[in-house]
Amino acid sequence: MYDYWTIGDFGNQIVTGMLDFLLPYRCPFCKGICKKPACARCLIKIEYEKGFCLRCGYPHAVIVKRCVMCNGRKLNFTSCCSLGFYAGFLKDAIHAIKFERRFEIGKFLVKKLLEKSDEARSPGYQGVVYVPASQDRLSRFGFDQSLMLARMISDELSLPVLKIVKRKSGLKLNTKRQTLLTYKERKKQAAKKFEVEEEKARFLKGKEKLLLVDDVITTGSTVSSISGLLRRKGVKRIHVLTLAHTPQGFLLK
Ligand SMILES: [Zn+2]
Ligand SMILES: [Zn+2]
Repeated sequence: MYDYWTIGDFGNQIVTGMLDFLLPYRCPFCKGICKKPACARCLIKIEYEKGFCLRCGYPHAVIVKRCVMCNGRKLNFTSCCSLGFYAGFLKDAIHAIKFERRFEIGKFLVKKLLEKSDEARSPGYQGVVYVPASQDRLSRFGFDQSLMLARMISDELSLPVLKIVKRKSGLKLNTKRQTLLTYKERKKQAAKKFEVEEEKARFLKGKEKLLLVDDVITTGSTVSSISGLLRRKGVKRIHVLTLAHTPQGFLLK
């Protein structure tokens, strides 16, 4: 049983399972009857960028070592890989996971992402950490999308998921919508939001290379802050995996 579901949604999952059995599967994009995860003519419409920046993961047509998006920006993670832009069919695919719980699409995208990231498949990684969803998102969607992706990556690479990062509770945060915040505001906010759970910090003992998963990256401030926390606990190399980057998100100052 996957643990990215909240307990309240367990019943829902059973109902979804029964409906799956009774009703034919429909493509999340064109709604035509097809095999999971989607019909072939819709799957080929999902846009991936062939390359990406090895440093910040920003999608590009070719692989580059550093790019204008991350030049001069202090990032606490070592490297990052992203499938493409949070736009078009890739955005629709991510929405299908989030709003319609099309987890098969998640599995499909995770496989694509791992094919693209040589670094993630390289030897020596010891576990998968993820950016935990806020309580608000958990109650809205009924599951933690990043934990779901982390589980799928852990299945593919046979690595344990380390549930060691948590959101601090009772924080007074900037109430402006996250998308309206500048990079500096986000960074300040992200630094206050997360912590490594002290009682679970022992799971980091001897861990030097970890993967860190987030569903979509905008400015990179959240994954960078969490990487900072992991580094303080002795982790030396952190490779970030994300399905998509928000176009131009890194340009938010
Ligand atoms: Zn279709
Ligand atoms: Zn870059």
